[in-house]
Amino acid sequence: MPQPKKDGANAVDHDHVSKSFTLKGLNDSGYINADVSQLDLDYTDFAQDTKANGKVRAGGILRKSKRDDLTTRARKDKGEYDDPDSKLLEEAQIWVEDGEVWYIHPVLQRDHWNHMSNDDWNSIRPSIELASRILDMVEILPFFYGLIAGSVYDLKDSAHNQAHNIIFQEWEMKEVPTVLRAVGQEAESVFLYMVGLRGSVEWEFSHIALSDRRFAQTGWLSKSKKALVEINEDFLDILSGRQQVHDYSMSWEPGTDVESARLRTQVALAITIVHEFAHAIWFCINKKYKVDPYLRGHFINELGFELEHMLFSGLIMPIGTPAVEAAPYGFKIDRFPEAGIRDDEETRVFSREPPSDSGCKTGWSHPVSMKWVSSLFTVDKWEEVARLGLSALKPQRKTGFSHDYRIRKKKRPRSPSPTSPSKKVKI
Ligand SMILES: [Zn+2]
Repeated sequence: MPQPKKDGANAVDHDHVSKSFTLKGLNDSGYINADVSQLDLDYTDFAQDTKANGKVRAGGILRKSKRDDLTTRARKDKGEYDDPDSKLLEEAQIWVEDGEVWYIHPVLQRDHWNHMSNDDWNSIRPSIELASRILDMVEILPFFYGLIAGSVYDLKDSAHNQAHNIIFQEWEMKEVPTVLRAVGQEAESVFLYMVGLRGSVEWEFSHIALSDRRFAQTGWLSKSKKALVEINEDFLDILSGRQQVHDYSMSWEPGTDVESARLRTQVALAITIVHEFAHAIWFCINKKYKVDPYLRGHFINELGFELEHMLFSGLIMPIGTPAVEAAPYGFKIDRFPEAGIRDDEETRVFSREPPSDSGCKTGWSHPVSMKWVSSLFTVDKWEEVARLGLSALKPQRKTGFSHDYRIRKKKRPRSPSPTSPSKKVKI
């Protein structure tokens, strides 16, 4: 039986952030408890952005407007064609199927979650909506465009390929022309590709043994040719109230506010969903299990972390060790790519070269303010992101510290070449 990460209260100890700043210090500076009662995210507000000043609209708005246009045309055409409804309405369903809410990403609709009760769905819905908002950003398109539009090449590092007996690949992000007219179609086609995965990705909560830095895992079901994302059920238990943050935290003054912690768990789940979607889309592109490619110039092949890094300029993790979904002491943001990630045969994440060779000798950690966490649930924040781009999404780093990485010893064969005269030949 896999062991749960928690083991009653006091299950989460200090990490280097809470040790440095103390829980009281973090709390006094707005990193743990906050008033989170006045959040006003109303996705229907985004529907007003129907013109978008000639730019491609966010995915959700695009879906809504496509569906509305096609449905209106179908109604107008009624009587003029033999079968006016079917073609246009069928096309409308590509964007938003009957009974679906346009601002929930089609891949995340309830139908695609296994064993989901009404109550559980309502518990995770804020995370679903937030993850949808992130996946629907125009600014996220270069990531997926790079993966699906063929900016993926075989990695020319024979020593690394040989060491793991894998032909690795590398890839790069690709800018999507987002101004309409000539080429705005490309942005729409990337959104459409993501929508088209709705039948190819299954989600479920399960009890899985996870490492400290992973809350979920994605696999490939070769029989049904679908990606299966399994998310640790602690998320669901906390959000539905079956577990409390106090089942995890140590006792401290004034103690962790339940609502503040719940908001963090909602955000952690949304980020986990977005992270796993990056893996799932890679499986779907390849139609089979294939090891993650390296983003050019980076030394860890982990698409989920790459996507998080693109969005936030680092990895947002709960403070405390082990890191748990209940996030009792707030969030921190850690530098990525980072040397703390070890080779992992199970997930097939492999470091390509010693971090020092990539100039990555130090890491940094900064606590993430509750102001930022709360802002994700406000219309203002998303209007700001639409106006200013990804820079408006990244948490501010007001206080923090750097620390030296302990460089791992790593065995890898040297590639034989004329420039390595010291090469020893085994006989
Ligand atoms: Zn991952």
